[in-house]
Amino acid sequence: MQAVRDLAGYDRGLYGSNPMSRRKLNELDPSFKHRVARQPGGEGIRACFGCKACTAACPIETVEKRYDPRKIIRMALLGMEKEVLESDFIWLCSSCYGCHEVCPQNVKFTEVMFAIKNLAVQEACVPAGLTGQRNLLKERGRLYEVGDFENEKRAKLGLPSIKEHPEDYEALL
Ligand code: SF4
Ligand code: SF4
Repeated sequence: MQAVRDLAGYDRGLYGSNPMSRRKLNELDPSFKHRVARQPGGEGIRACFGCKACTAACPIETVEKRYDPRKIIRMALLGMEKEVLESDFIWLCSSCYGCHEVCPQNVKFTEVMFAIKNLAVQEACVPAGLTGQRNLLKERGRLYEVGDFENEKRAKLGLPSIKEHPEDYEALL
């Protein structure tokens, strides 16, 4: 019963009072937390006791209340896989380790976030912008294309031009 109350409470927190957004218990995946815990860095997720110290330390939550590390953990523990993997917050997290430092349970939430991101990549829940950056890294070895314009500017500054070696980047990745 407590789990039902928790779910309703977190659901309201996430989606306001829209009853259409409520999730039924049988739509949840109780194995999700175990999958997160099996990822490197995800081991600590089940130790969270919901104290909210991470929330108070998070710079993203300070700017936008709906991005809350504790909420992500509670959703993961409740089996709300879809909501967790599709959350903007997992990509907005700045990996500042603020939550990690204050956690009394040593959950290491920054590492848990990496574990969740790895699962999101496996499930193809990645924002298009990040996929584009990944492709640039793979094809050019950097996040920005360097062409004739940039190389002419480099030449004026006495810098050597940048040449691309896609096969080297491919091998590195
Ligand atoms: S500080 Fe640690 S124990 Fe407290 S809610 Fe955050 S992750 Fe959970
Ligand atoms: S690592 Fe991410 S979740 Fe943790 S405090 Fe920093 S921005 Fe927030």
